[in-house]
Amino acid sequence: MDNIIVLRYGELYLKGKNRGFFERQLIGNIKNKLKGFDCELICHRGRYEVSGYDRNDESRIVNALKTVFGLKSLSIAQKVPSDISIMSDVILEKLPRSGTFKVDTHRADKTFPLTSPQVSAALGEKIIETNKNLSVDLHNPDIVVNVDIREDKYTYIYTAKEDCAGGMPVGCAGKGLLMLSGGIDSPVSGYMLAKRGLSLDAIHFHSYPYTSVQAKDKVVELAKIMSQYCGNMNLIVVPFTKIQETIHTKCNSDYMITIVRRFMMRIAEKVAFYRDCGCIVNGESLGQVASQTLQSITVTNDVVKSMPVFRPLIGMDKQEIIDISLKIGTYETSILPYEDCCTVFMPDSPVTKPTIFKAENEEKKMGDIEKLIEQALDNLEIIKI
Ligand code: ATP
Ligand code: MG
Repeated sequence: MDNIIVLRYGELYLKGKNRGFFERQLIGNIKNKLKGFDCELICHRGRYEVSGYDRNDESRIVNALKTVFGLKSLSIAQKVPSDISIMSDVILEKLPRSGTFKVDTHRADKTFPLTSPQVSAALGEKIIETNKNLSVDLHNPDIVVNVDIREDKYTYIYTAKEDCAGGMPVGCAGKGLLMLSGGIDSPVSGYMLAKRGLSLDAIHFHSYPYTSVQAKDKVVELAKIMSQYCGNMNLIVVPFTKIQETIHTKCNSDYMITIVRRFMMRIAEKVAFYRDCGCIVNGESLGQVASQTLQSITVTNDVVKSMPVFRPLIGMDKQEIIDISLKIGTYETSILPYEDCCTVFMPDSPVTKPTIFKAENEEKKMGDIEKLIEQALDNLEIIKI
């Protein structure tokens, strides 16, 4: 008998009247993920199933589905007509020759003549009658057989449930602009908000030739890894050299990082606006470095006027962030030793308690800052990921 993959979704059931919208987004995202596999997706209320695939593709399909936000869990199952003797035959095939088991029944089809405990008992009895080396253990069984009787007169039988990515379908919460450096944190921050349904574009500032071509390639690679979870994105690469040189020559060095970050924010806000993004996302974590003290964040945040800046890592420890980056596969790329523009011209002791007043005064020394920003925007590169 062919396997199928049963998919269950998570929080969507909370969405009341908007549920159709969330489900359409989820189904579209699943279909995108299954492109390239010969299989069929059937959508029932409450769960979906993937069938008709080649057994050799099964683990690749399962791994791909585990990256779809909005799915909570999946099981590799057999689908049979809701009939006790057919069910018990299939369960016997699934069980080993000896050992203990328990049948756990869920009955969505309330017209089925037996209650869930009665189904479990009937199946248990039939199985031990047929194979005397098997016995029922309700408390500590070797194997739990799940029997899920659906409304459409079919039953799913499976022995394992695997966790999927959880969260909400990417796209259902609108679009955000992720500030993507080559570091560990920003890919994780993008992942976390994609998990809440945000689709992403990414912006990267590079200061060639102070930063290398490899540093940019690394960011492209990170975006590719992220896109497995976050879907397609555009990576907008902004030339930042001129702005950094100007800050370096005109401004007080202890304000360098503060002002660099204010320029990044200004440009991010403009790009976000032009690309229909409703928010900016970055990887700041409170107190992690000088530019992420409360005062520093206040001063950099001050230049963004028209949209929220989301910082999903704000309360996380570095190790917690690393754990997620290992899980999503960005860590190994993030630690490649290419410099980020944040390290170019950086003073040994940057200010940790900047003020908006002083930052504005430093920026006045830079001349026409709007022109600098326009020049950067005129020369940005867009890479489709
Ligand atoms: P990360 O590990 O993400 O690089 P970090 O701990 O090194 O973070 P910072 O360098 O202060 O911290 O950067 C804070 C945030 O600012 C980053 O998480 C990222 O969102 C954004 N950022 C920093 N550098 C760049 C860059 N070159 N291009 C785009 N965004 C950047
Ligand atoms: Mg960094």
